[in-house]
Amino acid sequence: MNKIKKIILKKTAFTDRFHPWVYKNHIAVVDPEISPGDIVSIISHDNAYLGTGYYNPKSVIAIRILSRKKEPIDNNFFNKYIFQAFQKREQLKKITNAFRIVSSEADSLPGLILDLYNNTVVFQITTLGMKRLKNEIISSIHNTIKPEYIFERSDSIMCKLEGFKPAVSWHGLQGKEKTHIHEGKGKFIVDIAHGHKTGFYLDQRKSRIAVENFAKNKKVLDIFSYTGGFAIHAALGMASKVVCIDIKNEWLEQLKYNAQINNVSEKIECIKGNAFNILRKYIQTEEIFDIIILDPPSFVKNKSGLQNAVKGYLELNRLAMRLLNNKGILCTFSCSHHMKNEIFSDMLKKAAEAEIKTFSILKRCHQDKDHPIIETIPETEYLKGYFLSIINKN
Ligand code: SAH
Repeated sequence: MNKIKKIILKKTAFTDRFHPWVYKNHIAVVDPEISPGDIVSIISHDNAYLGTGYYNPKSVIAIRILSRKKEPIDNNFFNKYIFQAFQKREQLKKITNAFRIVSSEADSLPGLILDLYNNTVVFQITTLGMKRLKNEIISSIHNTIKPEYIFERSDSIMCKLEGFKPAVSWHGLQGKEKTHIHEGKGKFIVDIAHGHKTGFYLDQRKSRIAVENFAKNKKVLDIFSYTGGFAIHAALGMASKVVCIDIKNEWLEQLKYNAQINNVSEKIECIKGNAFNILRKYIQTEEIFDIIILDPPSFVKNKSGLQNAVKGYLELNRLAMRLLNNKGILCTFSCSHHMKNEIFSDMLKKAAEAEIKTFSILKRCHQDKDHPIIETIPETEYLKGYFLSIINKN
């Protein structure tokens, strides 16, 4: 530990001891021998040890803290944290063989995501500091999770922002890029090499399974369907028909395959196109649904884009409300941390008012528990949603 280089913080810095980020403007002195990505000791202005983390001057979050104890960041460190995180997810194994094992800051390993898809662990590194620890991470996955295959999917936008080369490859034995998983009653194929995120929106599991309970004999519209997470569960819940909309054909092809392996193809219709245009067309043709699922990509990339994003959500939710039967159900989501729950629910009230409708809340939704929400790290809470019964006012 003695050899670790030091960074001294300003007197005003580091007020929150439970948050793992240190901003660049809170740093007073950086040891001149420190290179980007190095492990550093974080020292207060009055010479107290605060923690150990890694440093990257390219980011406004210049240090991410890995530990507040004086412990080496080595194989044992990763074995301990990855094993702990894996054990926490034990309960999920009863309903699925695909879940997030490590959720970055929420599991005390900032910059690291580990997802399990059946016999394959997919890991994604999002910071330069974690990239430098890749060997320890891989060896620890072998020791603790012992999967058949390990695949790296470090190709997020963060590579450029943090200043390292993307990496997409197998480590060790080569498995299959298209892996079969199950989630509750549903079966899915996941493309771990090309799909969004590491292949599947694992965070929506709980809400997708919940849709089954509402779907019986209902005509369902799954907007932004991706590979059919919600659609398949709705069909398995005995929906009479499920129409799916996505802008990308590739996902709809996978959706059709998923429909086949679940024996629900005859209920599923896929439409490729822009959701906004298709919804407007339905309004013209007066097509009506009993349940509408609205799970759009994040419209808010940063704080400054929030106002415009709210307009987009408002428009979309108004269109969906218009297309629902009286007492029809709207399952509506936002996956942006910047879109706080108050803003989201306020937008929904405005949408209902504008459509001369009101609603009762059937269910409040969050990301599933393998994406923990840590109270002292507000950024870990990002996915929110509601199942609403939409009621005509006149
Ligand atoms: N509900 C899905 C995840 C949705 S991800 C699940 O649980 O698996 C969002 C999807 O919206 C992506 O598949 C993306 O291709 C699609 N998309 C993005 N913009 C779109 C648009 N304007 N119209 C239709 N689909 C869009």
